[in-house]
Amino acid sequence: MKILVANIGSTSLKWRLFDFSEGAERMVHKGGLERVTDYAAAIETCLEKLRQDGALTKEGDLAAVGFKTVLAKDLTGCVRLDEAAIAAMEAMNHVAPAHNPPYVAGIRQFAKRLPGVPLVGLFETAFYQWAPEAAMRYAVPANWHAAGIRRWGFHGASHKYIAERSAELLGRPEVAERVRRLYQDGPGQPPQGPPLRVISCHLGGSSSITGLRDGVAIGNSLGLSPQSGLPHNNRVGDLDAMAVPHAMRTLGLDLAEAERQLCKEGGLLGLSGVSNDIRDIQAAADSGNEQARLALEVFVHEARRWIGAYLVELNGLDALVFTAGIGENRAELRAAIAANLDAFGIRIDPERNQAARAVEAVISPEDAPVKVLVIPTNEELVVAREVRRLLQQG
Ligand code: AMP
Repeated sequence: MKILVANIGSTSLKWRLFDFSEGAERMVHKGGLERVTDYAAAIETCLEKLRQDGALTKEGDLAAVGFKTVLAKDLTGCVRLDEAAIAAMEAMNHVAPAHNPPYVAGIRQFAKRLPGVPLVGLFETAFYQWAPEAAMRYAVPANWHAAGIRRWGFHGASHKYIAERSAELLGRPEVAERVRRLYQDGPGQPPQGPPLRVISCHLGGSSSITGLRDGVAIGNSLGLSPQSGLPHNNRVGDLDAMAVPHAMRTLGLDLAEAERQLCKEGGLLGLSGVSNDIRDIQAAADSGNEQARLALEVFVHEARRWIGAYLVELNGLDALVFTAGIGENRAELRAAIAANLDAFGIRIDPERNQAARAVEAVISPEDAPVKVLVIPTNEELVVAREVRRLLQQG
């Protein structure tokens, strides 16, 4: 069974093709296109590459296309992307303007190009279904809550992968198995033994931090929208609710312009005034740009704030995990985030940290009470597995 997972950005298409034949689980192709302006052409190029490279003999061999969909009204989990599901995504376009519109456009193009192939979405919110209500609730009037104004949490596929893989690496296969079966069976009873307490830091163009107790999320730094929590590349992070009406009044912005600036001109770009990419910001900071230095400090401060929150909720920690573009590649930010936490058993070995780049690694000293790990994420695998399960259920 071959499943293509398409990762759709506002100007990019990335894909991975998985082959689940004969009980195996193999990634057989990986590729991507940047600066996409025409989605139909991008899909054509993707299918052509799969054929050229011998990964797909004919399109009919595709059992499904899976998507890491973000947010939909009154809908989560792993679902077929029919018209009703697409409409539910469109109903949340204004909450996730950088994510939902490109996904909807891409899904419609796939539907047109591959009419017989099931299209399936695994929503990023699915992983937080079992988080405690108190962690997901905003202190808003009841009718706001009824209108869906609550924390949803995102990056579910990535944090689920980290929950499973970290449990394997920490020698807790029963926790890994619980995570693997989570969407099928629900959390059930926690496994025997001491609780496994992990904090997963997905730090990239978009960042979030999650606490995991025995593999199940107890919350996420992203809230109603992917515009909250830590500062993102160009999207604002946590912000006092009154900041938006205040900025609109004092700067004379209308709603559309305020939304645009929050989603396009905030985050690390807004803070640094240099770039939305950590590499450029670090280079500017190294050459004395104070705003760039401050941007990095805010990022580190916010990451620590969320780590602190989950450290308390979990009553201690077994492992702190770094993943995604920044988490996997930026040793200096990992060191800054984990600095001065030895009172909690968290320490980093500088040499191990420097050496760990986009590979699985333990970067804490051998004798540290808390393992600090780098684990490259694999969101597409999580999506592909759930798509396969949905297809097998019929
Ligand atoms: P992501 O959204 O996970 O691709 O992460 C993007 C962020 O990670 C950007 O700020 C990049 O600067 C950083 N990043 C991604 N890959 C690398 C790399 N190979 N080396 C250094 N930084 C990277």
